[in-house]
Amino acid sequence: MLINLHSHLEGRVRPETAAELAAIEGLPTLSDGWQRAIRLGGPADLTVYLEKVASTYPFFRTPDAARRIAREAVEDAAASGHDYLELRFGPATHARDERRMRDVVLAVAEGMREASTASGVPSGLVLAALRHHTAEVNESVARVAALCAGAGVVGFDLAGDELLHPALEPHISAFDIARAAGLGITCHAAEAASAHAAREAVTLLGATRIGHGAHIIDDPEVLSWVADAGVVVEICPTSNWYTGAIASVADHPAPAFRDAGVRLVLGDDNPMQTGADLRYERAVLTADLGFDDEDLDLLDRTSVEAAFLEDGTRARLRGRLSP
Ligand SMILES: [Zn+2]
Repeated sequence: MLINLHSHLEGRVRPETAAELAAIEGLPTLSDGWQRAIRLGGPADLTVYLEKVASTYPFFRTPDAARRIAREAVEDAAASGHDYLELRFGPATHARDERRMRDVVLAVAEGMREASTASGVPSGLVLAALRHHTAEVNESVARVAALCAGAGVVGFDLAGDELLHPALEPHISAFDIARAAGLGITCHAAEAASAHAAREAVTLLGATRIGHGAHIIDDPEVLSWVADAGVVVEICPTSNWYTGAIASVADHPAPAFRDAGVRLVLGDDNPMQTGADLRYERAVLTADLGFDDEDLDLLDRTSVEAAFLEDGTRARLRGRLSP
């Protein structure tokens, strides 16, 4: 199955759509084209990686453009055989006023719904607070997420540069708002920072899922705590290689996580930046990381249970699991 539980809308902008929207917005023409602006040439570090993702930011200022990008993201996922796509999106980068933020979020949700209805592939929107934003801004994002909880928003996340902005305490109040609205909680953690960041995300923010978590492997005590607590780790091997979290995809700790009993799900993070979509990441698990059919079967089961889905869609996906 292809269940994508960690993928950023900003990382799924088609280069040809970027070129068209740039012309509409009157952005300067790029001599190397949008493909080069968006795509990484090879592994770098998290800061460079995030700069590439940020090249798409000008296209989320208007609800119409955001709706189109979201619709195309779900269309692309459907075309590549996805069973479910959970998209995350950081609206405060594009709009600070809470009404405008809500309009962009509703447009994104509408674009996703249009493509999901047409393709039959369900999708859910996770709003991302950002580490470099203030508590007040992230509380606004959480209020918008809560307001749109019945309109396609299913979860809440914290993203951004973990090395430059490691502290979680300023974001506790935003996560309190999101949890009170019944949203699923995930958090990018231990991607660039140490293993303890993952435990903090669980204990301080109420995360049930951890984005990346590659450094959890460095601390045996945190590793067994994560396994015992049933915390789900969203792994994205190629992304971790491109951000410099690991030296090569073969060094990804997925096999050690599996052996320690950590619940694992898969995502492609920013496929336009890395050129690696979810199907590719699944192939990495078998070709480079030694996953067999039984391991993939468990990954699928965990993905269906850990997805921020309503019960009807979850039941339908359960029906597709191998018996
Ligand atoms: Zn991510």
